[in-house]
Amino acid sequence: MQINFPCLIKSSYILCRSIFDVKAARIVKVNEPLEIQDVETLKPKGSQVLIKVESSGVCHSDIHLWEGGYNGPEGQFLKTTDRGVKYPLTPGHEIAGTVDNIGEEAEGRFSKNEKVLVFPWIGEGLCPACRVGEENLCDKPRSLGVYTDGGYAEYVLIPSYKYLVKIGDDMDTDTSATLSCSALTAYGAVKNTNLKPNDNVVIVGAGGLGLMAMQLAKAITGSRIIAMDLDDSKLKAAKENGADAMVNSKKEDPVKAIMELTSNLGADAVIDFVNASKTVEIDMQLLRRRARVVLVGLFGGELKLNLVTMPTRAYKLIGSYTGTLSEMVELVSLAKRGIIKPVVSNRFKLSQTTEALGMLRDGKIIGRGVINP
Ligand SMILES: [Zn+2]
Ligand SMILES: [Zn+2]
Repeated sequence: MQINFPCLIKSSYILCRSIFDVKAARIVKVNEPLEIQDVETLKPKGSQVLIKVESSGVCHSDIHLWEGGYNGPEGQFLKTTDRGVKYPLTPGHEIAGTVDNIGEEAEGRFSKNEKVLVFPWIGEGLCPACRVGEENLCDKPRSLGVYTDGGYAEYVLIPSYKYLVKIGDDMDTDTSATLSCSALTAYGAVKNTNLKPNDNVVIVGAGGLGLMAMQLAKAITGSRIIAMDLDDSKLKAAKENGADAMVNSKKEDPVKAIMELTSNLGADAVIDFVNASKTVEIDMQLLRRRARVVLVGLFGGELKLNLVTMPTRAYKLIGSYTGTLSEMVELVSLAKRGIIKPVVSNRFKLSQTTEALGMLRDGKIIGRGVINP
């Protein structure tokens, strides 16, 4: 970090740092290597807090930002710029670090060097979603690392202390960082299934999010968990993370297998962490009456629906996107007590962010990759 402005009031170091440069890994052009740039950052005012980033998780949605969009129906490409993303952008929404400097309103609430986890799903504050605490579903989102600069940087300015959760010295920043998106998305999805202890839930995709959803479903719902994936090594991990039964949909007929596992009744809920045409077509054949289908993954595609079965079998089709600040606070509590165990498998420097994104895109990161700027 380099101070731009000469210090006018020598007695106060903090006052001098009104504007300074922060090193950040930024997407300047989609699909091109990220550039390390010096980005001007302001000293925090009012309720703002400046965080020294210790850990910034690498998420699948960062790949979509890097590639510039998502797969839509009929091979259509849905551009990130059409939904308000502006480049150059510093990605990174799974941020944990220490408090470096605070605005006057944050005084007494946070102190320097305190370890915190950042809630990145920030809204504009006034829409109906924000009013009920669902800022993650705001009409005009200002999410860190998506619509505003995020945590692939040495420092990040947080608009208000209310988006910070203290994690204490007993938790490390690497695993904590994953709670704000990876685990939060899994938690939001599990909550959306409204599972009861006698329910069977099929969890499609035993990657990082799927495995966390299995831990969470085990911890909070009491339901029977059936993991589905194409890869035996991932299904082995599923078993270790709480799955009661495993189905390899490449080796066996998934519909037949689920019917056998559920006494021909079908699943009470499906959580799909892939959410591609192929997986959701299967999901819709696994369902018991009143089943909830929760779609989470961002693979994309389209689905042909048998419309009459929707009312007659009373299915619920639910989209689930991240989670709320209060859910993140709950997750911190679960992680602190060791009830859930996020897995960080790869660590990178700020200069290696392109490599980190490439490895994630190519399926070479099992667990979670974290950047330590
Ligand atoms: Zn809002
Ligand atoms: Zn994410």
